[in-house]
Amino acid sequence: MKKSVLTLLALGAALTVPVSLAAQAGPDVVIPAVSSYTLTPGTFAPGEISRDNPALTFRIGDRKFRDTTPGAYTLSIKPKGITVRAADERGAFYALQTLRQMADAGNGVLSCCEVTDRPRYPHRSLMFDVVRHFRSKEAVLRQLDAMALVKMSRMHFHLTDNEGFRIRLDCCPDVAPKTSFGDARFFHDILSTTYSYTPAEEPEGYVTGTYYDDGKVCGGYYSKDDIREILAYAAERHIEIIPEIEMPGHNRALLKARPELFCTGDRHTRDNVVCVTQEETFAFFEAVLKEVAELFPSEYIHIGGDEASKDNWKACDRCRETMAREGLTSVDQLQSRFIRRIEKSLNAMGKKLIGWDEILEGGLSENATVMSWRGSDGGAKSVAMEHDVIMTPNTYYYFDYCQDAPYKEPRAFNACLPLDRVYSYDPEKDIAGILGDAYTPELAKHILGVQANLWTECVITDPHFEYMLWPRAFAVAETGWSEAPKDYNRFRRNSERLCGRLRAMGINCFDLSTEVGERKASLTEIPRLTRDAKLSFRFSNGSRRDHIPQLTDGHLGGWSTRDSTQWVSSGGGKVQMMLDLGKVQPIHYIGVEMAEYPLRKRFFPKKMEIDVSRDGVEFTPVDIDMTQWPEGRKDFQIVTVGTTVSGEARYVRIKMDLIRSGVHLSEVIVN
Ligand SMILES: [Zn+2]
Repeated sequence: MKKSVLTLLALGAALTVPVSLAAQAGPDVVIPAVSSYTLTPGTFAPGEISRDNPALTFRIGDRKFRDTTPGAYTLSIKPKGITVRAADERGAFYALQTLRQMADAGNGVLSCCEVTDRPRYPHRSLMFDVVRHFRSKEAVLRQLDAMALVKMSRMHFHLTDNEGFRIRLDCCPDVAPKTSFGDARFFHDILSTTYSYTPAEEPEGYVTGTYYDDGKVCGGYYSKDDIREILAYAAERHIEIIPEIEMPGHNRALLKARPELFCTGDRHTRDNVVCVTQEETFAFFEAVLKEVAELFPSEYIHIGGDEASKDNWKACDRCRETMAREGLTSVDQLQSRFIRRIEKSLNAMGKKLIGWDEILEGGLSENATVMSWRGSDGGAKSVAMEHDVIMTPNTYYYFDYCQDAPYKEPRAFNACLPLDRVYSYDPEKDIAGILGDAYTPELAKHILGVQANLWTECVITDPHFEYMLWPRAFAVAETGWSEAPKDYNRFRRNSERLCGRLRAMGINCFDLSTEVGERKASLTEIPRLTRDAKLSFRFSNGSRRDHIPQLTDGHLGGWSTRDSTQWVSSGGGKVQMMLDLGKVQPIHYIGVEMAEYPLRKRFFPKKMEIDVSRDGVEFTPVDIDMTQWPEGRKDFQIVTVGTTVSGEARYVRIKMDLIRSGVHLSEVIVN
């Protein structure tokens, strides 16, 4: 058992701490939480073991070990030694990760115990977007180390998108060099809310790796050798890498290298969606997929399929002809037709197709696995159709969203997804909740697991990338692995400790000790006269909503403007709120709390007017002090604009003139 000797040496490094420092650790320190354990008398300290006694024994494939779940293992820790039992090497590897974490926490001394542990789901994963900003190979390898420590099983490698085709393949050797360098203006101007990406030529002398020029032109791509190295490193850590080649959307990069793959008509120069009805497009992607399939041993290949704007298909002669010839009535069916054919090709290569939940549109192909990202509905719908799903809802698992109070965090696409919220997610409860009576335990078998996605539009450097991942990825690891009851306090303690280990590995983690947490002002109810008020909201298109309890519930907004229990999005244009307090009464203050968020195209109103009335017919304007508007734009700010008044009224009318997508509103305050 050569392997056992090697792994014992690796473990030895962690176990050779002087016993005088001992603070023995049991399995409760481990992330992900182990399935079950019992403590037994005594401790195991390798310093006290005589040299001729094997301290660590592996029994892999032992007939007495009956759990056939890949990765399952048991640990028996006794004063004189440790026995690992597992069905396979993967299980033994996971047992070692448990021991490493216990040894770390206990300064080398382990509480004696019996541990039974097995993964809940096979897919426990992170998605790395290396396209919006390129990631160095070294950074990818570091994350694989950290993922292995918490028993994550897969990494989803998002390799192509609008900003680059970041893998250099023999079938199209010019494509990566032509597309993988550019000037991403979006990130360098705080006021800019429009994305601007200007492709640039490959810099002279570029080999592979990340390329920066003063933060202007940046980029890079992987050679096949780079990929082979990453794959081998992952395989040693029992991590499978699922490559993603985006299609038919998210392909603006290809415009530069393969303009002939796009639709006819003049729209195509602005679009990122390839023409899905010409043979050239299939030929290109099938050649790419064939080479990718040979390179990556994964049973899956991800083909994206998301956010394809289908408008240019409507305008394309070829696409229209195909629709007419085949009697297709919607462009969604064109997307579905394209995906089905790609799936057939992939299946012929011995691979399974995964796509984002948009592949449901126009009919799901036969064996496709769906990644549910737009919340959970797509996942629930797929499970109901007995398709396999991976849950990666943006409401919990989008790590491009910031993880603490936005004023202290780097620019991020949304505020806010703190550790406790990420930890609170449970895929089965989520899907069962959506499906209601239609849900059966049999359907739960189609949930393959969980995954967090780190999109990198705003994430320029490798250390920033790591900062967004850890410790939140620990929560994904625990949810994906453990069926033990959740305990956030235990998990948080363990996360703080494990971040220490990651820092020692050179990984930049978010510092939990500096966490501000939820916005204090949102946690207690404010005094208000709106308790029994009726609020009706008129949008700029004339439509009305008469039930928006969030705006009069006495709770100011938290950091997350996505939280629809607290925040309402107004839409742009001229909007009006009418508040009926139920009876004429004295009023001392009127105000509106709102959030500006340029990255989400939400801005404070250009203009706001408040007037009040006793009868709902005659209104008297109220003076608002417009100097309360904050000067200058920030990434994110919450403001209450209001004024003291003195008088009696029953009705309060608030008119706002809003640009772009409007503003986020959390409360209409009347006192
Ligand atoms: Zn077309």
